[in-house]
Amino acid sequence: MDNIIVQKYGGSSVGSIDRIKNVAKQIVKAKYKNNKIVVVVSAMGNTTNELIEKAMKINENPSSREMDMLLSTGEQMSISLLAMAIQELNEEVISLNGYQCKIITDDKHKKARIKDIDTIRIKNELEKEKIVIVAGFQGVSQKNDITTLGRGGSDTTAVALAAILNATRCEIYTDVDGVYTSDPRIVKGANLLDRISYDEMLELASLGAKVLHPRCVELARKYNVELVVKSSFNKCNGTEVVEVNKVENVLVRGVSLDENIAKISILEVPDEPGISYKLFDTLSKNNIQVDMIIQNINRENINDISFTVKVEDLKEVKRISNELKNKINAKDIIIDESVSKISVVGIGIAGSSNVASVFFRSLYELGVNIQMISTSEIKISCIIDKKKGREALQYVNQEFRLCSDNYVFEQEIV
Ligand code: ADP
Ligand code: ASP
Ligand code: MG
Repeated sequence: MDNIIVQKYGGSSVGSIDRIKNVAKQIVKAKYKNNKIVVVVSAMGNTTNELIEKAMKINENPSSREMDMLLSTGEQMSISLLAMAIQELNEEVISLNGYQCKIITDDKHKKARIKDIDTIRIKNELEKEKIVIVAGFQGVSQKNDITTLGRGGSDTTAVALAAILNATRCEIYTDVDGVYTSDPRIVKGANLLDRISYDEMLELASLGAKVLHPRCVELARKYNVELVVKSSFNKCNGTEVVEVNKVENVLVRGVSLDENIAKISILEVPDEPGISYKLFDTLSKNNIQVDMIIQNINRENINDISFTVKVEDLKEVKRISNELKNKINAKDIIIDESVSKISVVGIGIAGSSNVASVFFRSLYELGVNIQMISTSEIKISCIIDKKKGREALQYVNQEFRLCSDNYVFEQEIV
């Protein structure tokens, strides 16, 4: 099918009745350009958070299945309202939830992954010249239960649809003008990027830049989806996410700060084979994603193991670690929520020793202690005191000359 465009509108882009009416006009205009339009929408404004708050007032530990039943209603409300706004403009439209478009996922509630999408219904509706509005963030498991894809998951619905429908382009409309060197709501003078590579975007997204859901970038890279991030509030060009050979080679493209992590330290475990295996195997079987891991030799035959997890997994991690404490003969478990992760990301990092030194010097100049370090070809991350996180983010941006008042293309001067 020719010329399908997938557009996705995030929560603040459909956050009020006026916003929904504006977005409806924008969608109809796109359709007039001879396009078949599939639109993915998130829940209005703060709806998902409000639903979570309601649930917590009733039960602090609800089952993930029931949470998914609840959270999926946010998107169902916004798709129908948007469809009504489009009907008001006399255009043919239909809204479909994840169940109706057969967005099949695995059964890992609250963090499900899309396995398949049966596009027959969507294609039929497009053939009838209808605009198709799809609920983001939700799917259905093979057991016929409603699932959700993790916070921010509507981006992933959009890219998955673009991939499977072989769409010309996937346009992600949000509340900022595109992808910046850092979160423009925290860093003064953060610079808007024209282009970023899939790899860099995947790192930034995974490391806390919530402008795109990490899984959506992974899918876009895998299926070569033309992806652009732009504002739904103005006509700026936005940021294209492209293959690495289409971006300029800079040392550092961006810096991100993840404030939603916690550090777990398992103290004084025996230094013997199998301890790490028992610990991380149990976490993995419970779908807990572990990030940085450090093992310190405490004294002969005794180790401390520290690792980081997402705050949203903390309750589960506490339960599992306490259960494991005796099995692995640990003396104590310390949970530290007063940490953040700051990371520099760029395709030039692999070939430069300079980046690490400028990064660590910047933190030193601010008097920030580095608690953990991890590196990959295109990123360096440090765990630091949460209280210093935002100040450090601003300073590191400035030291790498990423802010608009000192942005330099040739970063060798750092
Ligand atoms: P939506 O509701 O449209 O999905 P999100 O709130 O999920 O929007 O993502 C957009 C937000 O991401 C922005 O408002 C911004 O604060 C934040 N953000 C974090 N890092 C970046 C970055 N590097 N570039 C742009 N925005 C960023
Ligand atoms: N409404 C969901 C959330 O708030 C999904 C999304 O916005 O992408 O996380
Ligand atoms: Mg989002």
